Amino acid sequence: MSVPAEEPGNPAHAIFERFLRAGECQEVLGSFLELCQQLGLQGTGLQLYHGLKAALNYWNAKALWSKLDKKAGHKDYDQGTACAGTKCLVVGAGPCGLRAAIELALLGARVVLLEKRDSFSRNNVLHLWPFTIHDLRALGAKKFYGRFCTGTLDHISIRQLQLILLKVALLLGVEVHINVRFESLVPPTGKAGGWQAVLQPSSSPLTHYEFDVLISAGGGKFVPEGFKRKETRGKLAIGITTNFINRHSRAEVEVAEISGVARIYNQKFFQNLYNKTGIDLENIVYYKDDTHYFVMTAKKQSLLTKGVILQDKADIESLLAPDNVNRDALLSYAKEAANFSTNYCLPELEFALNHRDLPDVDMFDFTCMTRSENAALVREHNGSRVLLGLVGDCLVEPFWPLGTGVARGFLAAFDAAWMVRRWAAGTPPLDVLAERESIYQRLSQTSPDNTHKNVSQYSIDPATRYPNINLQAIKASQVRDLYLVGMVE
Ligand code: FAD
Repeated sequence: MSVPAEEPGNPAHAIFERFLRAGECQEVLGSFLELCQQLGLQGTGLQLYHGLKAALNYWNAKALWSKLDKKAGHKDYDQGTACAGTKCLVVGAGPCGLRAAIELALLGARVVLLEKRDSFSRNNVLHLWPFTIHDLRALGAKKFYGRFCTGTLDHISIRQLQLILLKVALLLGVEVHINVRFESLVPPTGKAGGWQAVLQPSSSPLTHYEFDVLISAGGGKFVPEGFKRKETRGKLAIGITTNFINRHSRAEVEVAEISGVARIYNQKFFQNLYNKTGIDLENIVYYKDDTHYFVMTAKKQSLLTKGVILQDKADIESLLAPDNVNRDALLSYAKEAANFSTNYCLPELEFALNHRDLPDVDMFDFTCMTRSENAALVREHNGSRVLLGLVGDCLVEPFWPLGTGVARGFLAAFDAAWMVRRWAAGTPPLDVLAERESIYQRLSQTSPDNTHKNVSQYSIDPATRYPNINLQAIKASQVRDLYLVGMVE
């Protein structure tokens, strides 16, 4: 049977094509709204997805539907009924919040996602493990971003990843609201009411949204009340990230990427760098995407000698405080390191700009990494329960030069979706929590080597991803303190 081609005169087709190509967060949301208005579609959830599919029946759209249908047909979702009737609130449109929202939508839940910003501005590039590449391809990543992981490339800029996932989430009926900040939980007032949220602005109609599940994916700094964080203090680690404009010229294309050179593996490279420039690094990574992106771990003494850090201080916060950093010297340091490590073959390195229209160079402290003690908890008030789960950087903060953030973030997003599935199936809350903590124990040790190799079989079911996982490693009796009864403190 022949598939209709895009009809040049069909406005819905033109809007859909614009939506697929949209390169800014607001443009994605605007074109999607326009598309739904053009097609007269109003629903949410998978009902909206089916409406779109029926209305957009030409080749390019159909190619995407066939991918998403294949995904949605997985047995874990029970044909989109596994979580029908469950209402979820997801905080944060970073890669992990969006990825979790997609799974919850496929399970048939109602999913409302809040994002406090209105743009995706991070040029920095994320390393992808094989399973994340496979996963994103299965969600149709190439339809939205043709350059996605071409050839042997295994990375993507944070903003491109967010754009892809935002588009998939919208198509699957996730309700996305930007410029809305989640502040805290509001317990139900009467016997019949449900859990709500305090939001900024307080005039947002979503303050009346009642939900059974809150997935918090607000990044490194944000966790809802009730979760305890623990810090791991390692040896001093100062990370520098920088982005340069990629003009995609032939000379730039030919420069080889550096997928991670650590000092222990290539002492000569680092010694030469030091002898020639005075720059002393532990490691360096270089990836190409929309920009030329470098991330490196620099030794404190060389930052002092090169005048990047003005005065030595005992505590890392004061050491890297803006008034103790010479920004111009930092730019020169980053540029010199980039030039040396690419053999001076990248012509005319010019800084890309960040969201503040400043050269995109930053210095970060990785000495102290935080993680949450627990991945989930339940609150009960007036007989009404809410399940809270963390995913992404707010669960476990990643060390960027190792590129663990989005890989472990996606694993946690799948684990959280599995937990919501169990919750929706009526599993006793302590059993849900015990199972979630049993799985969480594994997360920080995961690598591409100790997770299942057959990535095409990955699903939200933990057994498809973690070899020999014991879902009862932690018993219900050990997680009683994760079931909190009474008011939010
Ligand atoms: P994030 O990507 O941080 O997303 C969290 C989202 O939640 C944000 O959009 C935020 O605006 C929103 N949010 C937060 N609080 C609220 C709230 N209360 N209400 C509503 N919305 C809220 N990793 C690397 O591997 N390499 C890098 O070079 C690198 N650079 C980074 C640069 C920056 C500035 C940051 C912040 C992170 C960087 N990371 C990097 C980490 C990487 O981005 C994450 O590991 C990855 O994006 C997955 O994170 P996430 O989705 O959990 O959180």
